[in-house]
Amino acid sequence: MALVEIKNLNKSFGSNHVLRGIDFTVEQGEVVCVIGPSGSGKSTLLRCVNLLEQPQEGQVFVRGEEITDRDCHLDAARQQIGMVFQQFNLFPHLSVLQNCTVAQITVLKRKQAHAEQIARANLERVGLSEKVTAYPAQLSGGQMQRVAIARALSMDPALMLFDEPTSALDPELVGDVLTVMRKLALDGMTMLVVTHEMAFAREVADRVVFMDGGVIVEQGPPADVIGNPQHQRTRTFLRRVL
Ligand code: ADP
Ligand code: MG
Repeated sequence: MALVEIKNLNKSFGSNHVLRGIDFTVEQGEVVCVIGPSGSGKSTLLRCVNLLEQPQEGQVFVRGEEITDRDCHLDAARQQIGMVFQQFNLFPHLSVLQNCTVAQITVLKRKQAHAEQIARANLERVGLSEKVTAYPAQLSGGQMQRVAIARALSMDPALMLFDEPTSALDPELVGDVLTVMRKLALDGMTMLVVTHEMAFAREVADRVVFMDGGVIVEQGPPADVIGNPQHQRTRTFLRRVL
């Protein structure tokens, strides 16, 4: 059974038909990178996977459970999905450690000591053990994004969604975040990553999905989609970003 299965997903904002019948799966342990021009619907697709956006038509299944079903326990389904945004979205008034424990305590009902233990382990995983008492304002963008990753991991997600996680970073800070993501992939985490980092997609993705105009134009191994694209739209896009 696929970890995520999407069938005939359609999403409009007013008269703007943004996702036009997307069919798509993510298998357990797979790393899928989504590429495509700005405005093609990549973020909307990602946000439909955990129903931050409600599609007008189509179905989203997580581990076989239809989360687009009205009777679905959405919070339980969402707990299985971690999300990392371009703009970190850390709580500014909480320390790094508290940022990584608050949802564990309030949502998963973990005891504080247990939550802290898990948070510390994940902060070590992203190379930030020495920053547990710092506040977000004291961190670089790359460090904030690594805290956001540790925070998501602390919820034990089955799937991690990344929406252009390095796009807001100064170029010299991008590498640290990509290194953490590469390590996560090697650890077997299932990941759906919207990115403009073609070298990362080429190296780490099991599959690359090229979107344009709200449809999947082509998908396959990176060596095919990036290395030898079959569609003119893919070639035009890659010529611009490579
Ligand atoms: P991408 O991530 O590929 O750049 P998006 O999914 O963000 O594309 O956006 C696709 C289209 O949907 C764009 O035309 C954008 O303006 C529109 N859109 C996205 N989110 C909203 C929203 N919350 N309200 C209205 N329009 C939106
Ligand atoms: Mg986007």
